[in-house]
Amino acid sequence: MPIKVIAFDADDTLWVNEPYFQETEKEFCSLFEDYLPHHTVGRELLHTEIQNITLYGYGIKGFMLSMIETALKITNKTVSVEAVDKIIGYGKDLLARPIELLDGVEEVLTALKGHYRLVVATKGDLLDQERKLKKSGLEHYFHHIEIMSEKGEADYRKLLKHLDIKPDEFVMIGNSLKSDVLPVLNIGGHGIHVPYHITWAHERIEHNIEHENFRQVQQIKEIIPFLLSEINDGPEPGLH
Ligand SMILES: [Mg+2]
Repeated sequence: MPIKVIAFDADDTLWVNEPYFQETEKEFCSLFEDYLPHHTVGRELLHTEIQNITLYGYGIKGFMLSMIETALKITNKTVSVEAVDKIIGYGKDLLARPIELLDGVEEVLTALKGHYRLVVATKGDLLDQERKLKKSGLEHYFHHIEIMSEKGEADYRKLLKHLDIKPDEFVMIGNSLKSDVLPVLNIGGHGIHVPYHITWAHERIEHNIEHENFRQVQQIKEIIPFLLSEINDGPEPGLH
């Protein structure tokens, strides 16, 4: 079955994201270092963020609210209005960050466009992800942009239905094994992992993946010869 659609995750696959969040988290931890050690503040924040995902989804606005909630908790509700003002400022700074494309991304999209339908499948705030795509200058490469509230098996099934393709006609490329690869393999699609040097604690998994539809590359550029050989030379192991 030939591959029809190649979907790309956006944050830390097409452009830099997690390092910006981690810089902000450091500032947040420093702001409350008189109350608790940095790593304890960081752990509290992560705990609050994960608890709030079902309420706020992924993205900067939810992150801001979780920072404020964590500040209230660790200061026993005595956090100053100045500190809250700073936290809101951290979030607004994050929203204003420029888009820094990762190495090889444009080369990959240029090489694959015309051979496959290219799609973006990303989590995050709708408005923020739209803003990032526009700023990235990459929009014109894509046939479809899917901003998802979660990346589970049911969410991918819905996307495939929308794209009117079968699972084995779909390849997902991303930096998160948990969100970009495992659910896609589980529904019969193909997954390519392009690791990024920093991964959010909530996206980490501890075990290795062995699956005939799975492959890992060190750099996104490595997918070009692999995916183009699908067209020129026919099947290769792992992608049929
Ligand atoms: Mg990502």
